[in-house]
Amino acid sequence: MFMSNLQLEKRIDYWLSPAQPGLPVDARVPFHSLQAVKVFLESNTIPYTITVDDVQELLDEEKEAMMVSRKFERSSNSFSFSSYHTIEEIYSWMDNLVTENPDLVSKIQIGQSYEKRPLYVLKFSTGGVNRPAIWIDTGIHSREWITQATGVWTANKIVTEYGKDASLTAILDTVDIFFEIVTNPDGFAYTHSTNRMWRKTRSINAGSSCRGVDPNRNWDAGFGGPGSSSNPCAETYHGPSPHSESEVKSIVDFVLSHGNVKALLSIHSYSQMLLFPYGYKAEPAPDHQELNDLAREAVAALAALHGTKYTYGSTIDTIYRADGTTTDWSYDNGIKYSYTFELRDTGRYGFLLPASQIIPTAEETWLALMKIMEHVRDNLY
Ligand SMILES: [Zn+2]
Repeated sequence: MFMSNLQLEKRIDYWLSPAQPGLPVDARVPFHSLQAVKVFLESNTIPYTITVDDVQELLDEEKEAMMVSRKFERSSNSFSFSSYHTIEEIYSWMDNLVTENPDLVSKIQIGQSYEKRPLYVLKFSTGGVNRPAIWIDTGIHSREWITQATGVWTANKIVTEYGKDASLTAILDTVDIFFEIVTNPDGFAYTHSTNRMWRKTRSINAGSSCRGVDPNRNWDAGFGGPGSSSNPCAETYHGPSPHSESEVKSIVDFVLSHGNVKALLSIHSYSQMLLFPYGYKAEPAPDHQELNDLAREAVAALAALHGTKYTYGSTIDTIYRADGTTTDWSYDNGIKYSYTFELRDTGRYGFLLPASQIIPTAEETWLALMKIMEHVRDNLY
């Protein structure tokens, strides 16, 4: 049964939205709605399983682990890549990375968020003028904490492997990498302070008490279609107009004014997928075959490390119709290698992936990123 039209919708928080009829969904049900939801499912003979008994228990464990790690970091004056961090901790770590690697990394500010936080991008470059570039972003959906954590690990990996790993060195000798780790800083700060499950931006919506726009439905690529919502209270609210969110507009302006971005990799969680255009239409992208072949190679490389299985394909065929997404916009603006990652897991922990999985996730993701970056390096256009 297609659950998106239910009156029940108000009672539950979708983690993995309804896709096509017949496909499963993941949802968090608040305690006070539990009985009503169970009765509904059972009376309509909709099968269900419970993957997390008590979300609060996972939240408590996550908080406890962060406190232990913070204590360790303070006493040892080090940064732990195997724990989750606040925006202040990540920004200060970024400054250290730049200070310690001035010949390779610099920090640029591409704009500011709705709540006036700086939007920082790390630039990895070995020289040249306006070299072809690869753009990577993590955390555009703030609750997807594994993505920002993977971003931090990956930025550090780039620095440690340059000059050691021949393939990465060859990439950086031709191509610059731009990396936005905290792409939705207001939302991310809010997941730490108030609501761990916050996904959207934090902008105020005229005429509604609900805040925020889905920054992965706000792009000018099939904007406003049925693969997004016009309801400001919905998790997939597309916003009042394309690029209304400064977090989105700042990337648009940066990428267009750079003019030489060849790949755009936008990293989300969860569901273990590697997706490419289109999401807003069923018609295959002109580069479908090449994108599909490269995706197959990338997920094979990823799976070889820890056995993590990814599905891959166009967004609309693999997950669901989605309008106004980042990578459809980049593809429509001439960036051929446009991919969306959905990292671990497939729903056992969902957005609350234990910190013990950060490093394995980042390590395997690195192998897929390398496959794509090598292909870009060898197929500049
Ligand atoms: Zn996401």
